[in-house]
Amino acid sequence: MNTQGERNVTGTPAIRLTDVGMHYGRKEVLKNITLDINRGDFMAITGPNGGGKTTLLRIMLGLLRPTAGSVSYLDCHGNQAPRLTIGYLPQKSAVDARFPITVEEVIRLGLMGPEAPHDNVDARVADMLARLELEVKAGSPVGELSGGQFQRALLGRALVAEPEVVILDEPLSYLDKHFEHELYGMLQEVKSVRPDTAIALVSHEMSEIAAMATRHVIIDHTLHICHSATHLVHYDCDL
Ligand code: ADP
Repeated sequence: MNTQGERNVTGTPAIRLTDVGMHYGRKEVLKNITLDINRGDFMAITGPNGGGKTTLLRIMLGLLRPTAGSVSYLDCHGNQAPRLTIGYLPQKSAVDARFPITVEEVIRLGLMGPEAPHDNVDARVADMLARLELEVKAGSPVGELSGGQFQRALLGRALVAEPEVVILDEPLSYLDKHFEHELYGMLQEVKSVRPDTAIALVSHEMSEIAAMATRHVIIDHTLHICHSATHLVHYDCDL
């Protein structure tokens, strides 16, 4: 739902994780994660490799069902919602570049969900291609792209529907400095045009992200809420 023009809903929860736990077989990857991702949050998530960050994002997205606890989606009135519009940028390594699909089709996929806007689809895709400087690659199969171009196409897919929640898993990998700044610019723009958007972002390169973020958490199988961005540097924070 587009909250533009409605009452200020910043701070109301969009995704609620309650006592979430996850086992892969006998291996416990996450335990006791209780966390709200609120409208207007820019949540920076860091933690050691293998700490469960990607697993947590996939649980937030509904792609994985936790083995304990619950995940709920809430509309801007605080009522349970069957789904939200969520844009997702997976880790690039999680996507098969051999899949026979063009750049334009990748971005168009972001408009196919039931909650996505279905008006002006061509214009939205064209605008996103232009903002990502991928117009000349629009008809190219993704297998022909550089790592950075592929990452940008996936970013376009995540943002094109102007979703209520944006979830980004290591978005900086493969981006050169120019597009790293473009990414920050695009996220700043999302925040200024649609301030109720909730953003959750996993990154190891935290300095600039941390400056933009409004909340910081560390996932090291359990959840640690950080009260200061500097704690992120050492994966260490007040518990
Ligand atoms: P992070 O994103 O913090 O690096 P992950 O969520 O990717 O952590 O992985 C957490 C742990 O769960 C790792 O030890 C990983 O090997 C394991 N894991 C992730 N996905 C699976 C899976 N599908 N099956 C079994 N183990 C998995």
